Amino acid sequence: MTDVSDSPEPVDAPDGSDAQVGFADLGLRPALVDALGGLGYEEPTPIQREAIPVLLTGRDLLGGAATGTGKTAAFSLPILEKLPTAGGPVELVALVLVPTRELAVQVSEAIYKYGRPLGAQVMPVYGGQPIGRQMAALNRGMHVVVATPGRALDHLERGTLSLDSLQVVVLDEADEMLDMGFADDIEAILGATPPNRQTVLFSATLPPRIASIAKRHLTDPVRVQIDRATSSDEAPLVTQRAYVVTRNHKAAALGRILDVESPEAAIVFCRTRHEVDELTETLNGRGYRAEALHGGMDQTQRDRVMNRLRSGSADLIVATDVAARGLDIDQLTHVVNYDVPASVDAYVHRIGRVGRAGREGVAITLAEPRERRQLQNVEHRTGQSIRQEKVPTVADLRARQMERTIQTLQDRLPDDELDRFRVVVETLTDDHDLIDVALAAIKLIHETSVSVEDDEEIPEVAARKEKGGPGKGPGGGSRPDRPGGAPARGPSPGKTGLYVGLGRSSGLRPGDLVGAIANETSLSGGDIGNIRITERFAIVEVPDEAVDEVIGALGQTTIRGRRAQVRRDRDQQ
Ligand code: AMP
Repeated sequence: MTDVSDSPEPVDAPDGSDAQVGFADLGLRPALVDALGGLGYEEPTPIQREAIPVLLTGRDLLGGAATGTGKTAAFSLPILEKLPTAGGPVELVALVLVPTRELAVQVSEAIYKYGRPLGAQVMPVYGGQPIGRQMAALNRGMHVVVATPGRALDHLERGTLSLDSLQVVVLDEADEMLDMGFADDIEAILGATPPNRQTVLFSATLPPRIASIAKRHLTDPVRVQIDRATSSDEAPLVTQRAYVVTRNHKAAALGRILDVESPEAAIVFCRTRHEVDELTETLNGRGYRAEALHGGMDQTQRDRVMNRLRSGSADLIVATDVAARGLDIDQLTHVVNYDVPASVDAYVHRIGRVGRAGREGVAITLAEPRERRQLQNVEHRTGQSIRQEKVPTVADLRARQMERTIQTLQDRLPDDELDRFRVVVETLTDDHDLIDVALAAIKLIHETSVSVEDDEEIPEVAARKEKGGPGKGPGGGSRPDRPGGAPARGPSPGKTGLYVGLGRSSGLRPGDLVGAIANETSLSGGDIGNIRITERFAIVEVPDEAVDEVIGALGQTTIRGRRAQVRRDRDQQ
């Protein structure tokens, strides 16, 4: 195996602004290219441009890329290229290992979507789901299995998953898998794969322990590291803000944010044409004059849209990166990223459209909880902070709307023409109180500026405690798939759950934990809260203030004759 440090320098991705490389240029077969077009993908993301050609040659790959960069398609499309033509026996081509059950489902859905025209058989396999059902499906035959390490090992040990025909193994979000204590399981699984398989490792961060796995299991890998940002001096001076929202609430959140911001002219970037079309419709329904701009439009159509924005007959343009290439609009006050862009360069390039020539500009990014890491990446690499804010509440919006009504009236008060309406007021005050007349008039004005009722509260996504600063934190919102699939629960009040990396399979019993804690720390048995023990790990609750003491003490001792990994339980942070 080749030392990663001897490998060629990481390939720098192009800046995403001018390259005109399509999926077909990467060497993918037409059926796959068509499937991607059908999903509204207009061009490969930087990680896809770099990784796909490498993987198609059969080389191993070590990729530095977080969620949101398009890495799933980057490793999935080359796997799909290896699928045999339909009709033959279904044999396992690839095993993708992922840290969480959510990711297992998400990745297998993506591979299924991309590979539909090829009849790809794909299945997620994770703890917590009945194993019998998984066994039956595996027995029928799958081309790709996307699994969490614990459950994959379980199937290997039972003989219900055979890796004999395996051509590719992918370790996705490898740093997360290691953080979750899956190192031994991964070693065991890799040990069971054919030696000539292709190995792909993706990780948001590339610390030494990832390099060490790569050194042992990857053969002469090509390193692909995206997100080398353009120098930070080139980044424009723009107020940068981000809102973390779940996918379901994104459109409503954007509407609310725009209502509060009231941009003069804005461009909203989406990843796909479909997203552009859907969002344009939603924003129009909310009273905005929004125009779609995507790569499928010819130059005349694009010019027409641009002119509407320039002349003020449109407020918003909703666009893909491809469509917005080369656009230069002086009036732009806001750039909105409907998703975290696929690379830092794309981010820098997009927000560079505002804040030019000393003008003020605002860049707003909506991030799903899982995309937080990519957002941190952007901050880290641009060296600029992106303030995370709460989506305005209904009350915030109402307050803003009132302010605007006051402003509208204030602007009118010095108006010389007001006098001709005096007769209206005088007539009305014959029968009504002057204040009531004013209130009715204000209500009328207010209602014309508030085009839709918006009274749905958008749930706040709790901030996650991150370890070790930007780029080092856990991937965000998803719940770890613990081997054994134990349910997560909140800790008791005043207590913090600690994860202990030993379980029933090591003979662990509650008394062992109580004994170890009581012997090694200042706590007594009565201070310890609930204890849950599953096959491979345990959760023990300790008083909040004793967390560091217990982690430190248990780290120095053995339980049941073994050293165990002890840390805060991620599910409860
Ligand atoms: P990932 O980083 O793999 O989790 O992908 C992030 C998101 O980007 C997913 O919603 C994908 O569907 C989307 N995506 C991936 N590749 C492309 C592309 N080339 N163009 C547009 N969207 C993409």
